[in-house]
Amino acid sequence: MAEQTITNSGTYDLSRLTTFKIGGKCDAVYFPKSVDEFIELFNKDNTLFVIGSGSNLLISSQGIKGGVVCTKQLKNITVVGNTITAEAGVTGAFMAQLAAKEGLSGVEFFIAFPGSIGGNVFMNASAHNQFTSDCFVSARCYDRETKSVVTLKKSDMNFAYKQSILQTGRYILLDAVFELKKAPAEEINALMARNLTNRKQTQPSMAYPNAGCAFKNPPNDSAGRLLDKAGLKGYDDGNVRIWDTHANFIINKGNATSTDVLELMLKMYNKVKETYSIELTPEVIYVGEMSKREEEICRILYPKIQK
Ligand SMILES: Cc1cc2nc3c(=O)[nH]c(=O)nc-3n(C[C@H](O)[C@H](O)[C@H](O)COP(=O)(O)OP(=O)(O)OC[C@H]3O[C@@H](n4cnc5c(N)ncnc54)[C@H](O)[C@@H]3O)c2cc1C
Repeated sequence: MAEQTITNSGTYDLSRLTTFKIGGKCDAVYFPKSVDEFIELFNKDNTLFVIGSGSNLLISSQGIKGGVVCTKQLKNITVVGNTITAEAGVTGAFMAQLAAKEGLSGVEFFIAFPGSIGGNVFMNASAHNQFTSDCFVSARCYDRETKSVVTLKKSDMNFAYKQSILQTGRYILLDAVFELKKAPAEEINALMARNLTNRKQTQPSMAYPNAGCAFKNPPNDSAGRLLDKAGLKGYDDGNVRIWDTHANFIINKGNATSTDVLELMLKMYNKVKETYSIELTPEVIYVGEMSKREEEICRILYPKIQK
């Protein structure tokens, strides 16, 4: 059943919208059913926080001040020739399957993680040597500054590793256009199957709530490799645990709070710093109201977060 807009604070648990299953309350939650409705929400309140699939987010257990808009019902997607246009809430996995059916190659990696198109472009999500930016052509975005809809081309996007212009917070992705390449369906399906097998061997399934890699890879290295060599695989910290076969994944054992996750991230960060003199940068995005302890940790892990 489609989720309804909830405007009564304290009634909606944001942990329902994150793959970590962590998050407090907020003032209002909106689930727009069309791009026009999405735009209208920002015209009324352009401070709303956007959630896609919630798979790269650590939302504070103290919640978020203000309103939240979730794109999960913006699911329109069309294929014309080699071009796919997808609304912000389409999941990458759905797009990958549709592309495969159409004999289109370029987004096979999307099959392997839960991100939405909005989140994938925001993070320039990548895996298995493919990047979201590879086949990105343009996106229609809501500009919070001018309160208007603009089209951003690939050259406007400042794409780099885990980076895009959306991270400035100015633009909200409404829908995006991708140009793919024709390829034999067997090749596309084989690549997707390989990607999925690789995941199953190394990463937790979604039955173990997590938000993907906790830290970004430092230049020319892998955060997972460093954390593994530092002896952190399987490290158990009570409510949270580092995954046994991939030391860059934190799982919520069921009752974890945002503080539990941040405490463990700080331990991981400190261990790698002490062992290799490398300061890891978090990949998981932290949002919401901070406790005093969270403020202390975030000053180290997220020095750019402004309170
Ligand atoms: C099991 C697992 C495996 C993963 N593997 C990978 C991987 O291989 N590679 C990889 O890159 N990532 C991976 N991730 C992380 C995550 O799936 C990606 O970062 C994904 O791109 C996040 O998309 P999302 O829709 O979940 O974004 P969310 O977590 O909902 O949001 C992330 C950020 O994007 C912003 N945002 C979302 N939608 C919009 C929009 N429409 N306009 C503007 N801003 C928006 C949000 O405000 C937030 O700041 C994995 C996660 C999990 C749980």
